[in-house]
Amino acid sequence: MSSHKGKVVLVTGAGRGIGRSIAECFAAQGAAVGVLDFDSANSSETASALLARGFLAHGVQADVANIDEVRQACEQVEKVFGPIDVLINNAGISPKHNGIRAEAAEMDIEEWKSVIDVNLTGCFNTVRVLAGGMKSRKSGSIINMSSVAGKAYCPLVGIHYSTTKAALIGFTRHLAGELGPYGITVNAIAPGRIDTPMMRTVSAAANKAVIDQTPLGRLGSPEDVANLALFLTSEKANFITGQVCDVAGGWLMT
Ligand code: NAD
Repeated sequence: MSSHKGKVVLVTGAGRGIGRSIAECFAAQGAAVGVLDFDSANSSETASALLARGFLAHGVQADVANIDEVRQACEQVEKVFGPIDVLINNAGISPKHNGIRAEAAEMDIEEWKSVIDVNLTGCFNTVRVLAGGMKSRKSGSIINMSSVAGKAYCPLVGIHYSTTKAALIGFTRHLAGELGPYGITVNAIAPGRIDTPMMRTVSAAANKAVIDQTPLGRLGSPEDVANLALFLTSEKANFITGQVCDVAGGWLMT
């Protein structure tokens, strides 16, 4: 099966973790993948690993919070592969201090702003660059990476993080309404606790407590999230839009 053969996909934050797995899964399904990351070594290494497996990939460095960098990165990917059909807004940050979040009353304004800029404005920037082309072609699909922490209280993350992940749900629904008439679907994915470098910024005990509260009894894998992204952007999901889909093993059941 090659569900995405011929599609051009941009994955942000694709240098490691969930984004890298999404890039690998789409490439394995025949897509040409733009591997965008702030960390140029990781985006290059991910793209090289995909090319070595005979897949189509192109690494680009950009900070999603900077629209000029996003525009340049998209232009580079489109120059190599053609118009971007699928946008996966995955890049995100969740600052910690020795594994502990800052509480709202003590949080530095610069830390607050940095999370809003990356997790929320970063998604707006890619949409500002790519949605016009999708509208003119009357096709496309967009996934925004939310979190169960945007739907329920999660003591492991800070108020900035949960605020942006909740905001992405409104962002997704609004965009789905605007872009639906052009045949473009927009959905959000809300992962639970997924085994990535981000998750390892908190203590093993904290992650064990999540596993104990998860009916399926384990952390999620990046591939669990990637499989949902593949489905939501495939032909099989072309009547699904404006939805928030949890992939959390039953944790929180938001
Ligand atoms: P991660 O920290 O392992 O990887 C994030 C990637 O995004 C990194 O490669 C990083 O360099 C990149 N990135 C960070 N800031 C960027 C920027 N300004 N511009 C471009 N790239 C940037 O994180 P992850 O666990 O793979 O998380 C991926 C997404 O999934 C995030 O949006 C995160 O909030 C969300 N999420 C993760 C979990 C989890 O448990 N891991 C749970 C719910 C939601």
